[in-house]
Amino acid sequence: MNLHEYQAKEILNSFGVRIQRGYVATSAEEAVNKANQLHEETGTDFYVIKAQVHAGGRGKGGGVKLAKSKDEVLSISNQIIGMNLITPQTSKEGKKVHQVLVAEDVYYPGPSEIEEFYVSVLLNRANAKNMIMYSTEGGVDIETVAEETPHLIHSLDIDPKIGLTDKNATEVASSLNLSGEAHAEMTSFIKALYKAYTESDASLFEINPVLKTSDNKVLAVDAKVTIDDNALFRHKDYLEMRDLREENPIEVEAREAGLNYVDLDGNVGCMVNGAGLAMATMDLIKQAGGEPANFLDVGGTADSERVEKAFRIILRDSKVKAILVNIFGGIVRCDRVANGVVDAYTKMKDEISIPIIVRLEGTNSDLAKEIIDSSGLNFYSAIEFKEAADKVQKALRSS
Ligand code: GDP
Ligand code: MN
Repeated sequence: MNLHEYQAKEILNSFGVRIQRGYVATSAEEAVNKANQLHEETGTDFYVIKAQVHAGGRGKGGGVKLAKSKDEVLSISNQIIGMNLITPQTSKEGKKVHQVLVAEDVYYPGPSEIEEFYVSVLLNRANAKNMIMYSTEGGVDIETVAEETPHLIHSLDIDPKIGLTDKNATEVASSLNLSGEAHAEMTSFIKALYKAYTESDASLFEINPVLKTSDNKVLAVDAKVTIDDNALFRHKDYLEMRDLREENPIEVEAREAGLNYVDLDGNVGCMVNGAGLAMATMDLIKQAGGEPANFLDVGGTADSERVEKAFRIILRDSKVKAILVNIFGGIVRCDRVANGVVDAYTKMKDEISIPIIVRLEGTNSDLAKEIIDSSGLNFYSAIEFKEAADKVQKALRSS
């Protein structure tokens, strides 16, 4: 689950990571109230208004703007709330902005007095360790830095069994060429950030930029956080931060139906039971010259209700030109699945205009094939994997 910047900063703050302070607002009037509140708390007269969407590069798309007065807070918030923000990380349609973060401007008195760094903590699946990545080249697009000047990005593996040591944190601060108070600030920043990462069960905490202010404070100006979905059951407070408006609507619907669905770019919809078989099916589709439109694991109970729900979800994707149903009947017998598929199709006959290839293998597969073939519906049935692939190819050619 991804979080908004303002939510990520709340979490950082709760673990003692210094942040650029601010409040979220859903209207320009509320933004002005929040600016007043910030003024009372910090004395600031300068603000930065930041679009809250699940995408980086907002600054480049006009989603981060400085306001030097309350009037500007009002006009800029009016401009950003409701806009369609297009950044290098959104689709070309962009993302609708529903809320802004009103934060204190922390870049005073000017560029020569401040420094921007890049720091992230993430899970390194390759060596089963956590990793701190850091660079003096913060504030800018880190992907560009990685491409053009990779030697300026450093990484440090942290063994999760040992955790982050004082020595690790000091090493990061020293490699970032900091000394004195700023060095001490960065050391405690790194320690608190690592604690936030582990204790919130995150797979990513990316802070770009980390700012060293003119008075040598080190704080998080931006934050991108991903919490591991599998750990959300023990973070009810984070679960409430989920913003479904930011997620793929088909994926949201599938999750509510208890289906394991991931939207992809291809043209062949897949309905499969079991994650392993789903992966193999996607390979099969590619071999047949197609591209999978989705990953969909219907799980153990492929009854007609579930199959219908799965069909409906796949069909919401207009790119889909054919559907491959590939189900292994072990505990659930193939003939029952076949009846489920036929029932669901019969109900949805008017909505389905694309060919469906059904491969049912396992207990009673012959009987299942008979049920599919005698249904009189627009099915291609198969038992062998290869046969299914050929039929997908044929269906794509005729579409
Ligand atoms: P992103 O573009 O989505 O990564 O959003 P960021 O939160 O990183 O903000 C983009 C850029 O806006 C930063 O790299 C800064 O250069 C600038 N920025 C953010 N906060 C402030 C601020 O308080 N003062 C000034 N002057 N610039 C800021
Ligand atoms: Mn950023």
